[in-house]
Amino acid sequence: MKTINASIITIGDELLIGQTIDTNSAWMAQELNKIGVWVRKRVAVGDVWDDIWNALDEESKDSDIILITGGLGPTADDITKPLLCKYFGGTLVVNEDVLKHVNYLFEKVYRRPGPMLERNLKQAEVPDVCTVLHNARGTAPGMWFDRKSVAGRARVVISLPGIPHEMKGLMVNEVLPRLTKIFEFPVILHRTAFTMGTGESMIAEKIKDFENSLPEHIRLAYLPGYGMVKLRLTAKGDDKENLEKELNEKFSELKELVSAWLVSDEDESLAMVVQKILKEKNKTIGTAESCTGGYIAHLITSNAGSSVGFKGSIISYANDVKERILGVTDKTLRSVGAVSEETVIQMVKGAVEKLQVDFAVATSGIMGPDGGTDEKPVGTVWVAAGNKDKIETIKLAFRFDRARNIEMTAHAALNFLRKFILANT
Ligand code: AMP
Ligand code: MG
Repeated sequence: MKTINASIITIGDELLIGQTIDTNSAWMAQELNKIGVWVRKRVAVGDVWDDIWNALDEESKDSDIILITGGLGPTADDITKPLLCKYFGGTLVVNEDVLKHVNYLFEKVYRRPGPMLERNLKQAEVPDVCTVLHNARGTAPGMWFDRKSVAGRARVVISLPGIPHEMKGLMVNEVLPRLTKIFEFPVILHRTAFTMGTGESMIAEKIKDFENSLPEHIRLAYLPGYGMVKLRLTAKGDDKENLEKELNEKFSELKELVSAWLVSDEDESLAMVVQKILKEKNKTIGTAESCTGGYIAHLITSNAGSSVGFKGSIISYANDVKERILGVTDKTLRSVGAVSEETVIQMVKGAVEKLQVDFAVATSGIMGPDGGTDEKPVGTVWVAAGNKDKIETIKLAFRFDRARNIEMTAHAALNFLRKFILANT
């Protein structure tokens, strides 16, 4: 099996000084990996002629594919296009299709008044030695340079804009389909088990024999997140059918071993898992959030189609809102405080009633950095989930900074709700 190597060159001074974090190459590497391309190197260079030129020379030596992002803007600091034109011995010419598209964007989408600026018109110029890749999401087209004739050198050099959203559109619609046509990639298959409720060390202990039993061509990756660990099996080979069979067998073994923590056997978000359950069971939910400030609702509504099961949220940050809207009693708030089991139970009751939902989840905690006491240190959280007949609670203790405490609480609460729904429908 021949490995197809790729290099990714990201261009931009902003990347070097840390002003912009290079998310492009991480995303591209993942997408390339999925179709069987091995990314052997990632290089970042500034908007500097010689540095870009040298990077191209260097990466051409060992990579079959070179992907470049950045430096395609209409401003003087962006030099990638003229450089590539010179590098491949071409001339810049106006491309009519791109010109039409740029005109269309400025007139109809951006609705900029007046005639087009010279520098924007220049975006329709492309080297006459490349194939133009249509950028539906922006003005700078992608450029594809073939180099079949040069032995021992990269066969294709692809230049894409730096703006992530535009780069992604071009990759998905233009670049990946073309690459799969030209190259014969090995088959690469992935299966992902999504777990919550234990750490990666515990899981590693539990599955160590399984891990050792894996053949060379099936690899296991641990992908820890907020309160969750995803376990991804990746199989590489030539024969898709057999590989799929082999991978599925191994994946079943893995799922069995981690069944106590298994949330889903797909690579998806927790909110998506909950959404699917609600749809399947035809149930509705709502949230009553104090310390998470609506973040659980945000996680849920980030998914298209969330309106199927999600009805709403009451962000009861202040005690008087907990009292007036959710009906938490003054007595409770005075005697045991807002961060208490009693409070979150009453919050769930209030939310089920007010939002008229089948299930609700409530959070109340101290996220920090201030507000902790000996009795209730920063990171103390009470969560409740329930329906009109029954409410369950859990006390959590985190020791992170505010942002991470909120993130951990939201995911733990949503998972607690998920388990309650499954156990009570
Ligand atoms: P450019 O094509 O150089 O005009 O890039 C436009 C914008 O895209 C830059 O201002 C950055 O904010 C963003 N950008 C460029 N390169 C990257 C990258 N590697 N990762 C994430 N964002 C990027
Ligand atoms: Mg730039």
